[in-house]
Order: sequence, then structure tokens, then C-alpha cells
Amino acid sequence: MTLLIEKPQISIVIPLYNEEESLPELTAWIEKVMNQHNYTYEIIMVDDGSNDDSWNVIKKLSAGNKNIRGVKFRRNYGKSAALNKGFEKALGNVVITMDADLQDSPDEIPELYDMITNEGYDLVSGWKKKRYDSKLTKNLPSKIYNSVTRRLSGVKLHDMNCGLKAYRHDVVKAIEVYGEMHRYIPVIAKWAGFKKIGEKVVVHRKRQFGVTKFGWERFINGFLDLISIMFVSRFGRKPMHLFGTLGSILFLAGFIIAGYLAYAKLFLAGYRMTERPLFYLGLLSMILGTQLFVAGFLGELITRNSSDRNHYLVEEEA
Ligand code: UDP
Ligand code: MG
Repeated sequence: MTLLIEKPQISIVIPLYNEEESLPELTAWIEKVMNQHNYTYEIIMVDDGSNDDSWNVIKKLSAGNKNIRGVKFRRNYGKSAALNKGFEKALGNVVITMDADLQDSPDEIPELYDMITNEGYDLVSGWKKKRYDSKLTKNLPSKIYNSVTRRLSGVKLHDMNCGLKAYRHDVVKAIEVYGEMHRYIPVIAKWAGFKKIGEKVVVHRKRQFGVTKFGWERFINGFLDLISIMFVSRFGRKPMHLFGTLGSILFLAGFIIAGYLAYAKLFLAGYRMTERPLFYLGLLSMILGTQLFVAGFLGELITRNSSDRNHYLVEEEA
């Protein structure tokens, strides 16, 4: 007998918050698919601080199948936190994430697995081409959100935020998701240097039990998170490049305006400088320019102190 822990082929990470009714059916379905294809697998259920009976259900399921593991958060931290915890625990060569509410179908797993292992994808995102959610509050906003994200990030996916995704092992160990950044995992992966990102049309189903956990706040939070990600990935290590440039341009513009006004005051007779709107514009842009510059300096001081300022992802060594 060997004591080596075998790495499973597939880790299935399931973040969940108050989904007690769905769990037994979901795990039974996953088990069926895994056994049909003879995969070695683990199911990692991350209970994001549920206050229904989800955790007891997970403990029961885990007792009945050694491939099922559970983690329970002390309180509700959000889907990103739950995913991050699952990524930390995952051992499998391919990591699949899916929602717990039976909206994603486990039947998609084998094909997703093949795309990672045989076709060389780093990340494959599901695409809910035909979607069974409310048209007005989900489908339409999601179309707009996806096209904005596509344009800003350059990641050409139709459905960034599909819960059903497959990752190469290295990807989940390299990226970090927090806040509400689960919406942008493909963008984060791309910026971490994983280039082969694909998508697969997946079957989507109506929510069977319970209610959606995301309300209207997701529009604002989602947008702010996108801006943060863009900013951090481009200028996180060199904030002065952004603030310094903007600050210098503004200051220079203000300085030229002030110079011109001073000249006019001295050499063009009877000139009431402070009555011209231009005066205020010059003043404003010099002050704002200086402030942006200072913000850049402070940013530099902060990044110098950050513990991961010299953290790089090494792909290979020879
Ligand atoms: N979820 C979570 N923590 C939260 C909110 C949601 O783990 O704070 C889980 C939820 O239980 C589900 C998945 O994230 O498994 C997707 O949530 P939901 O189905 O409510 O989103 P929707 O499909 O409506 O966009
Ligand atoms: Mg759902």
C-alpha cells in the first residue's frame, strides 16, 4: 500500500450560499458523469457562510463519498472569496468551477476537460448562449457588461461571468480573486500571462430552488471592480507613470496659461486678468496637476513597500 496522495484528474469547486435543496441532486449528477468517464476527481464545496442547512447536507454527502470535501466560512464573504478558497484547496490537474444552483450542467465537464488537456487551453469559459434568467434584469445588462469588458480588456469572450469554467491547475494557483472579481477571472488570467483562453457554448438551465444571490448592486460593484483591475494591472507597479504623466500635462497647461496672462497683464494695457475665465482655468489646472503628481509619488512609496513587489510568475526554467 502506498501513502502517496494521488492527484485527481479533476477538481470541481462549488461556491455556495444557501443552496441546501440543490446539493444532493448536483453531487449525484456529478458522480454519475465522473463514473461514466472513469475520471479520478474531487468535489470541493465551499459553503460561503450559509444560514440554511447547506453545511449539514455537505457533511452528509461527504460522509457518503470520499471524493467530496467541504469548507465552511464563518460568515458570508462572497462568491470570489469562496472560489479563492476552493482554488487554494484544489489538487486536480484540471479545475472546474460551477454554481451550486443546478443552472450549470455537469454533462459539460468531459468536453471542458478535453479542451484543457488535449487542446492546450489554459482557461475555458462557458458561454450561456441560450440563457434561462430574467431578460430585463439579467440577460440585457449582461450583454452590455460583456461588451464593455471585451472592449476594455481585449479578452474576446461572450460570457465572462459564467459560473461554469475550466482551468489548468497552474492558472488557479497563480491568480487571486477577491472582492467581487470573480466576474473578471478571464481578464485576471490573461494579465497573469495565460494566453490561451477559450470558450464553449454550454447548456444553461432555470434555477430549480432558492433565489439569485446577486441584486442590482452588482452593476456598480462590477464596474468599479473592472476599473480597479485595469488600473492595478497596468499601473499597479508604477503608479507614477499614470499620475505623473497626467499631472505634468495639467501643470504645464496651467503654467502656459498663467504665463500668457502675465504677459498680457504686463504688456497689453488695461487688462483685467482676474475677470477672464481663462485665469481660473490656469489656476485650477496647476493645482490639480500638482496634486496628481503628489498622488503618483505617494503611490510609488506604497508600491515600494508592498510585499509582492518582486513577485513574478515563472513559466519554465531550463
Ligand atoms: N454564491 C456564493 N456566495 C455569495 C453569493 C453567491 O457562494 O455570496 C454562489 C451561489 O450559491 C451560487 C453561485 O454563487 O452557487 C452563483 O450565484 P447565483 O446563482 O445566485 O447567481 P446568478 O446565477 O443569479 O447570477
Ligand atoms: Mg444561478
